[in-house]
Order: sequence, then C-alpha cells, then structure tokens
Amino acid sequence: MKLWVLVFINALAVALSLAIINFYFQKNLFDFFVTFFVSLLTSYLVFYYLIERFVYSKIKLIYKLIHNLKLGKDLKDALGEYVSADPINDVELEVKEWARDKKSEIDQLKDQEKFRREFLSNISHELKTPLFAIQGYIEALQEGDIDDPEMTRQFLEKASRNVDRLAFFIKDLDAISKLESGEIPVHYDRFNLVDLINEVIDSLELKAKKYNITLHFKEKYHSPTWVIADREKIRQVFVNLIDNSFKYGNSNGNTSIKTFELHDQILVEITDDGIGIEEKYLPRLFERFYRTDKSRSRQIGGSGLGLAIVKHIIEAHEQTITVRSTENIGSTFGFTLQREK
Ligand code: ADP
Repeated sequence: MKLWVLVFINALAVALSLAIINFYFQKNLFDFFVTFFVSLLTSYLVFYYLIERFVYSKIKLIYKLIHNLKLGKDLKDALGEYVSADPINDVELEVKEWARDKKSEIDQLKDQEKFRREFLSNISHELKTPLFAIQGYIEALQEGDIDDPEMTRQFLEKASRNVDRLAFFIKDLDAISKLESGEIPVHYDRFNLVDLINEVIDSLELKAKKYNITLHFKEKYHSPTWVIADREKIRQVFVNLIDNSFKYGNSNGNTSIKTFELHDQILVEITDDGIGIEEKYLPRLFERFYRTDKSRSRQIGGSGLGLAIVKHIIEAHEQTITVRSTENIGSTFGFTLQREK
C-alpha cells in the first residue's frame, strides 16, 4: 500500500471522529464539515511528516541496503540509485527472496565443504594403502635375508605392484580433475565404432587371458557402425568398463559387447557374468571413490574412479549411461552414442 493512502486513511479516521464529536455537541452541519476538513488536512500533514520522518525513511534505508547487497556493487552502479515507490511491500519481497538466495548459497557451500572433506579423506585413504605396503616390503627387505633371492624377488614384485597401483590412481585422479575442470574438451569425430571396439579388444586380450575371461563381440557387428564422438575418450570408456568386467568377473567367465541401433543413437552394452552388484549400491556406483563392500573385500587394486570417469565422458557427450545388475549373476553397463546414419 502506498504511503499517502495509509496516511490518508489514518487522517480520515481522526477527522471523522473529531467531526462526529463536534456534531454531537454543536448539532451544526457547517461546524461538522469545517472540523472534518481542517482536522483531515492537519492530521494528514502531521501523520505524513511523522511516518515519513521516523518510519518510512528508515525502511527505505534498509530496503536500499538489501537492494544494493543483492545486486552487488557493479550492478548498482550501472542502475544508479534506485528508490522504490512502495518500500514496505518491496522490503518484504526482497527480504524473502534474499533469504531464499542466501539459504541455497549456504547449502551449496556446505555441500562443497563436505565434498572437500570427503575428497581429501578418500585420497589419503587410497594413497595410504599402497604406500604403507611398499614401506612394509622395503623394511622387510632391509631387515631380511638379502641372500634369499626368492624372497627378495617376491617382495620386490609386491612392492612394484603397489607402485603400479599408486601410478594408476594418480593417473585416474589427474583424468577426473581435468574432466571436471573442463580442461580437456570433447573433440567430436565421425568414426566406425566397430573398429574401435576391435582395437580395444585386441589391446585387452592379454589381460583377459590373465583373468581367464573370454571377450565376445559377434561377427554380425562387423559391418561399420558410424558414430560421432570423441574417439579417444570413448576408448577410455570401453577400457574402464571391460577392465571392471575382469576385476569383478569370475574365472572362466565371459564378457560380451553388443551394439543396438536406436533411432538416432547407438546403444552399447557391456555384459559380464561376474559377482554382480547389490541393488542398494547401484544408485551411487558412478560417484567418485565409491566402491561396494564386496569389491573392497576382494582387495582389488582399484581407484574407485573408473566409473566416475566413464560417467563424466558420456555426460560430456550429452549421452546417458545406465547399469543393470544382479548379485552373483552379472552386470550390464549400457551407454549411448550419437549415431551417424
Ligand atoms: P574401481 O577402481 O573400484 O573398480 P570403479 O569406479 O570402476 O572403481 O567401480 C566402482 C565400484 O563399482 C567397484 O569398486 C565395484 O564395486 C563396482 N563395479 C564396477 N563394475 C563392476 C562390475 N562389472 N561388476 C561388479 N561390480 C562392479
């Protein structure tokens, strides 16, 4: 409500009361109107002055302060001194909006702080395990019988495996931080997906043998399947997913890669018959450092970053990734790619 309306209503109430009292004693209509108009005018002026001087100017000041704080200095300078016509109402609206903004800002900061805390503790945890193992083997070598070549070889091999684990972890950490900061943009290319899958299978053949797992990619897929994506990044997606199918697969197991033509996308599915994933873990599987209890207990040297990297790459392509899994039966990771017809 505008200030003058507010003051006028007040003045009207006072003027009417005085005029009625006057009419009650004088019984004169002329006196009634004179009292009414004179008191209306004087009380309007007095109320206006008092409210403006002691209440409104203060509210205007608060309003301007909030308004300036909300806009920030630069914007305020650009807009010049803005004075609202109805500060009481505006103050209420602005304060509400301001409080809402501040609340979401605080929530965001809290989330970031929680993330930073978790991030540091996750990193130190992942570094600690292999580092302490290396330290242990070196100490054992220093104290042990150097003349026992078999023991020396074993300890060195174990230390070396942990050094590799550290190196993989740091490589993954570097990859995820670069992906998250947008340092490595997506370079779209038109390429034949079938060629890429065959290349990845060739590069992982030895590792598959080590884990006793057979890779399947059927002949029917050998006609070209054209997609538009960042070839090297998609290679990383295949490597991470197939590598997981080894780590969480069973000996003599199978991993199959299938592609399906959708309307304007290609769906790729990588299926294993490994240990599977409990349903309760599925929603958080793609989070950084997230690992299921089962995989932790398997003592598999993973960074917990592989799937986070995969998700980042797929989402940077504006595509989607999903997982289906049944414990002790196997898992299927599926992702889409833009199809080039
Ligand atoms: P890690 O380095 O631990 O393998 P990932 O981000 O690649 O990290 O995977 C996160 C977790 O998801 C793994 O620790 C494992 O528990 C689970 N996981 C991933 N792939 C599979 C799979 N094919 N089968 C069963 N569990 C899997």
